[in-house]
Amino acid sequence: DVLISENVNFDGLLLSDPILKGLKSAGFERPSPIQLKAIPLGRCGLDLIVQAKSGTGKTCVFSVIALEGLQLDTSALQVLILAPTREIAIQIWDVVKSIGQALPQLRCHTFIGGMPLQEDKQKLKKCHIAVGTPGRMKQLIEQGVMNIENIRMFILDEADKLLEDSFQEQINWIYSTLPDNKQMLALSATYPEYLAEHLTAYMRNPTFLRLNVTDPALLGIRQYYKSVKFHPLPNKLFESKVEIVTALLSSIDFQQCLVFSNLQTMAQNMADALNSKGWPTACIAGCLDQKDRNLAMAKLKTFKCRVLISTDLTSRGIDADKVNLVINLDIPKDHETYLHRIGRAGRFGTFGGCVSIVSEGQEMVNLQSVERKCKTNISLLPGMHIKQ
Ligand code: ADP
Ligand code: MG
Repeated sequence: DVLISENVNFDGLLLSDPILKGLKSAGFERPSPIQLKAIPLGRCGLDLIVQAKSGTGKTCVFSVIALEGLQLDTSALQVLILAPTREIAIQIWDVVKSIGQALPQLRCHTFIGGMPLQEDKQKLKKCHIAVGTPGRMKQLIEQGVMNIENIRMFILDEADKLLEDSFQEQINWIYSTLPDNKQMLALSATYPEYLAEHLTAYMRNPTFLRLNVTDPALLGIRQYYKSVKFHPLPNKLFESKVEIVTALLSSIDFQQCLVFSNLQTMAQNMADALNSKGWPTACIAGCLDQKDRNLAMAKLKTFKCRVLISTDLTSRGIDADKVNLVINLDIPKDHETYLHRIGRAGRFGTFGGCVSIVSEGQEMVNLQSVERKCKTNISLLPGMHIKQ
């Protein structure tokens, strides 16, 4: 396995016994290269900006650093972990609990929008690590429900996303209320130039850790496109895309597939169309109820559905190890989003494929721009004859 550092196991990282035990029970035998590099530096107390590809185990990096630094003989909140979506927050919570399973006193909880505030208050009575989304965290701090006096570590997963316009104000606010003396960790597969500078302003002389980020092909993901005739009538274009998607699903040998669209309506209509054609399909979008979002996510992770259609809500961070096919119904708004989308297939060194459906004209131009910026190759999908 290309991702596993040979001859090194977690024992070499001088971790405490319960954490080593937890890692083993979680099925983590050897550290990935980014884990090998970042965990020791993080444990020294340095502020880190970590950039490593999708699926290389960044969650474990910050989970181990956070867990090793905890004082468990108090009930004080000591670590704040922020993620841009509720689903990522829940996933992080799972990983922290799994790696911390040999620490019986450990309390880690999620704090996300769409769930009752009353439950949050209950959880905060004893909580060492809080994982959540910016909006809810800000609300809890603002209302004085969350005591932040003892926070010593502030972690931003998908850091570049968290510093985008829609979140930036909340992150600034939270950052400025936290105690001064804290360690910060930022992680992502992508950092647009202007954001790296912004991040360093939050940090104390941060260390940059970058690993093989320029070549997405190395991820083991084969990238293809399938072109479709442009049609000025959206309905007609949609129908052609449905034909292509069903043909792809029938002809490609995949385990699980994520289908992305820029638009909520497109995602929902496609889910309806596939369901009516006999492909049991779950759908996840920001406009849906949190309970339904959790249900769709659970279906994906327990293999109860093979196809999940989504907006870019799940293009980042989501880890479902059986996903080995990604279909783009349209071209994402920037190349970073493209990289995150395709990164959903081929987790932790496994192989996967991605097919982008492009209508002739502007979409084709956009795809070429993505290809150029990602310094990659996206080839015409061979051997598919679909009537158009
Ligand atoms: P990233 O955040 O870098 O995209 P994740 O933290 O979601 O990646 O991890 C991707 C997958 O790799 C997860 O399924 C995780 O359980 C697995 N994984 C992470 N580290 C290890 C390890 N050391 N050994 C085996 N599997 C691992
Ligand atoms: Mg991640």
